[in-house]
Parts: sequence; C-alpha cells; structure tokens
Amino acid sequence: MSDCVFCKIVAGQIPSTKVHEDELTLAFMDIGEVNPGHVLVAVRPHVENIYGLNDVLAAAVFRTTARVARAVKKAYSPEGVTLYQANGAAAGQTVFHFHLHLVPRYDRDGLRLTWPTKNPPREQLEANAAKLRAALE
Ligand code: 5GP
Ligand code: ZN
Repeated sequence: MSDCVFCKIVAGQIPSTKVHEDELTLAFMDIGEVNPGHVLVAVRPHVENIYGLNDVLAAAVFRTTARVARAVKKAYSPEGVTLYQANGAAAGQTVFHFHLHLVPRYDRDGLRLTWPTKNPPREQLEANAAKLRAALE
C-alpha cells in the first residue's frame, strides 16, 4: 500500500534497523523504543490487522516473534518481555499494517497497561463463551 510506512520499510523505500527477515515477516527496531531491544515483528504483505491474517501468515509471524524473543532474552537478559499487539485505533493501533511489539521489561520501567478487572458471575462468562463459539469459523 503506497502510503503505508511499514510497506515502505518492507520494500526498503525508507530505512529501518532490521533484526531478522524471511519470506513472510520482517523484524526491526521500533523507532520509539520503550526499552533497548524493543522490536516490531511485521508481516511482509500489507495486512491491516489481525482479522486479515491467514493461517500461514499467523503462524509465520508468531514463529518469528518466538525466535526474536529468545534473542531478546539472550542479548538483554530482561526481567520480563511483554508482547503487545493492537488492532484498531481504540485499541491503540497507530500504524495500520499488522505488527506485534516485543518489549523487554524491567521492574518500574514506566510501561503501564491498566487492566480494569470486572469479575463477572460464571453465568455471564458462559454466555460470553457461547456467543464466541457460535461465531467461530
Ligand atoms: P502501534 O501503536 O501501531 O502498535 O505501534 C506502531 C509503532 O511503530 C510505534 O511504536 C512507533 O514507534 C513505530 N513506528 C512508527 N513509524 C516508524 C518507522 O518509520 N520506523 C520504525 N522503526 N518504527 C516506527
Ligand atoms: Zn502496509
């Protein structure tokens, strides 16, 4: 897609600092890194979000992610690693080309994702799950 920044990175039209590339994926450093070793793993074709991933791309992107995660662990020995992946502006997505963040984590490193737990009754969980089972393709 001509106005997509990650398509331009994939095509080599704008510079990026690459960690790994293969036929279907590209892993490169996030220009706005939270901590050293913050890597983005993107799919090569222009797929806007998770809904557009076929099984082959989905498997490839997670295979690369797991591989780079092992490298992050070996290279930086972080206290933890967070995978972050946003779909849609409401979810925090700013670049609309599927990618996943691998963020090395440390105690009190300032990264916060608030998680407002609701603890619904079991019946509500059952109803939610039934709705999802009916929607599975
Ligand atoms: P999102 O919020 O969509 O998950 O995150 C997009 C990420 O892409 C941001 O963390 C941002 O720093 C990164 N980013 C945006 N433009 C560029 C770029 O041109 N090069 C690189 N390496 N990263 C970018
Ligand atoms: Zn793109």
